[in-house]
Amino acid sequence: MQDSQSSQQLSQAIAIASPLQRKSRQARVAWRNNVVTVGGDAPVRVQSMTNTDTVDAVETAIQVRQLAQAGSEMVRITVNTPEAAAAVPYIREQLDRMGEYVPLVGDFHYNGHRLLTDYPDCAQALSKYRINPGNVGKGDKKDKQFGQMIEIAAKYDKAVRIGVNWGSLDQEIMAELMDQNSKLAQPWETRQVMYEALITSAISSAELARNIGLNPDNIILSCKVSGVQDLISVYRELARRCDYALHLGLTEAGMGTKGTVASTAALSVLLQEGIGDTIRVSLTPQPGEARTQEVVVASEILQALGLRVFVPSVTACPGCGRTTSTTFQELAKRIDDFLRGEMPVWRTQFPGVEAMKVAVMGCIVNGPGESKHADIGISLPGNGEAPAAPVFIDGEKALTLRGEHIAEEFQTLVLEYVQRRYGQKA
Ligand code: SF4
Repeated sequence: MQDSQSSQQLSQAIAIASPLQRKSRQARVAWRNNVVTVGGDAPVRVQSMTNTDTVDAVETAIQVRQLAQAGSEMVRITVNTPEAAAAVPYIREQLDRMGEYVPLVGDFHYNGHRLLTDYPDCAQALSKYRINPGNVGKGDKKDKQFGQMIEIAAKYDKAVRIGVNWGSLDQEIMAELMDQNSKLAQPWETRQVMYEALITSAISSAELARNIGLNPDNIILSCKVSGVQDLISVYRELARRCDYALHLGLTEAGMGTKGTVASTAALSVLLQEGIGDTIRVSLTPQPGEARTQEVVVASEILQALGLRVFVPSVTACPGCGRTTSTTFQELAKRIDDFLRGEMPVWRTQFPGVEAMKVAVMGCIVNGPGESKHADIGISLPGNGEAPAAPVFIDGEKALTLRGEHIAEEFQTLVLEYVQRRYGQKA
């Protein structure tokens, strides 16, 4: 009798999943020699926002730099008072002095028209303005004050994100649509009217900006909500109705695991469909947690989807009853921290290193196999196994580590591998 394995036939190849690409307009957000393209063929960009008082120019510049070094390609800062607007050129200057040319985005609500008019150095130091159409003024002041900001953006050739948020949705648009809805034979659900109001506010503001003279290639839209399914519904429709570059993010995502999972769930669905040209993960930092965590999560989402590579990946097993020691957990963390900590320097010193794969495994079951798939990997001894840790380099067993200093020795091997493989050839 033929065995079942050998009777299997290859028939139709299984499709390899990959994210689609939506063709949007390409915007440019630049500072000096650092040109960050958004949309079109450009990679999906990571953004973040400071939580310092902008008036404190030194503290803000330091945090902007930390976010940029963690991988944020644009950093947004609050510009809410005359003092904050006056501080913006100094923040820019501090960053330039440090050689950090990450573009700054100014976040304006309520008084942006006055601040941008009264502080032209602030208007010029920023590379992009975020304008919330729900917070630019009421009644006849709304279009006038929005127009004032757009005229300044057009004058300095700045990119503008028209950023609608359901927490500050234009109530006039919402009221008008609710009124229309009440007259329908089969009225929509209130949240469907809210979706419509978000999209209408974003697209009609973009049209107004174009009529005032803003280059359509300088326009980026966003419609942020805090529910995962709401975000997916709104962005699918927004992407269908316009070709502007889209900034994507779940607003007020929350803290820790909840915020990380909710953002990942929402963004992954949309990014897989080709929707989203820049992303931000709006995490509430846990006490003592670095602000850079939102950049780490955003980059990990893009890296997990195969859209970008930012840092070498560490494959580590979850551990189980075969390994009771925490040695491999500590080693996995140590190597992960080491790789992330080195990346700001390695990025320029060792081009291509971000694609490196490292494995740290707990025992012989999957350890050698997974380590062989990595560029460099180690398989630690599980319970009852000989106290030896084979190291695999480029798929081959290279050596075996033993004793008290396996962690330090493996870290040194990783560093040597990076220098050898990614170092600039003379
Ligand atoms: S590699 Fe070994 S220790 Fe790690 S999860 Fe698998 S069986 Fe458990």
